[in-house]
Amino acid sequence: MKIDLRSDTITQPTPAMLEAMLSAKVGDDVYKQDPTVNELEASLAHLFGMEAGLFFPTGTMANQAAIKLHTQPGEQLICDHFAHVFNYEGGGVSFNSGVSCQLIKGQRGMLTADQVESAINPPDFYHSPLTTLVCVENTTNKGGGACYDFLELKRIQQVCQMHGLRYHLDGARIWNALEATHTTPKHYGKLFDSISVCLSKGLGCPVGSVLLGSRELIGRAMRVRKVLGGGMRQIGYLAAAGLYALEHHRDRLADDHRRAKELEAALKKLPIIDHVTPVETNIVIFTLAPDFESDIWDAFLKKQDISLSQMGEGKWRMVTHLDYTEVQHQKLLGLLLDEFSSYY
Ligand SMILES: *Cc1c(COP(=O)(O)O)cnc(C)c1O
Repeated sequence: MKIDLRSDTITQPTPAMLEAMLSAKVGDDVYKQDPTVNELEASLAHLFGMEAGLFFPTGTMANQAAIKLHTQPGEQLICDHFAHVFNYEGGGVSFNSGVSCQLIKGQRGMLTADQVESAINPPDFYHSPLTTLVCVENTTNKGGGACYDFLELKRIQQVCQMHGLRYHLDGARIWNALEATHTTPKHYGKLFDSISVCLSKGLGCPVGSVLLGSRELIGRAMRVRKVLGGGMRQIGYLAAAGLYALEHHRDRLADDHRRAKELEAALKKLPIIDHVTPVETNIVIFTLAPDFESDIWDAFLKKQDISLSQMGEGKWRMVTHLDYTEVQHQKLLGLLLDEFSSYY
């Protein structure tokens, strides 16, 4: 039995999701005539209490479009040094928008309002780039699925308002944050100028992200999406997967979180593990003990057909997801404890 915990993006659409996709009504979305895409965008906008939404093929494109919409070339955005927009979007911030990043060393990828405030360049000091945008991520990817304290996000919003900055949320895993912190989408809709949400991570769709914002912003986002090559035609088939997942795959995120916590507890019992980053959602990051032979670990994973992500410097990552079943979970817990609990 193969166990693949590299990412929550590796899931296969379920038979019921495929059925929903096949029966979708579609039209040409570049003319805004795909009824299923329009329904998905409207229902997400409604869910977050924002005016409008726009479907994107990837979260990267949705974030990049948001940055383009909120900035002018030469300006600067503020984000954490772990941020996806800085680390994992191919340098798009400079390539697409001609913007630089003021990086902050936050806690597990999360900023504080004080850190944001002290990173703003004085607007009349024309030698430095003009700060115009703050990007935050919830949950954090490189931070191991950590969730913001909602009050801190609110304090950051106040800093943005005071200094005339735009405020963008990279909500690729916002569904996990909502589940873990018992906040509602409308809480977040009130804070941000734009939010990108992902359908292909925790929710298990094959494709898709949606950018949310004001009617005016999303109107302009149509042009940016077109420029980036993201204007697509009969994509109601993909949007139907999103509508299906919003209805059927949100509640089960609690299972992913429980399993991640159980993996954390098991790993903490093993003498071969040096450190486990506290689990908040569906991501488990751990470091092997420095004196443990990593060849033995590699051989164990290979023999048992277990795939994890390597993060360098002895760090590993597991992400629980829709296709990680209870049977796989119990097997993995058993294997870890049998093999390594009295290793030395
Ligand atoms: C996955 C992810 C994205 C978007 O990734 P795509 O693969 O382009 O859809 C953006 N931000 C964060 C935090 C992510 O984890």
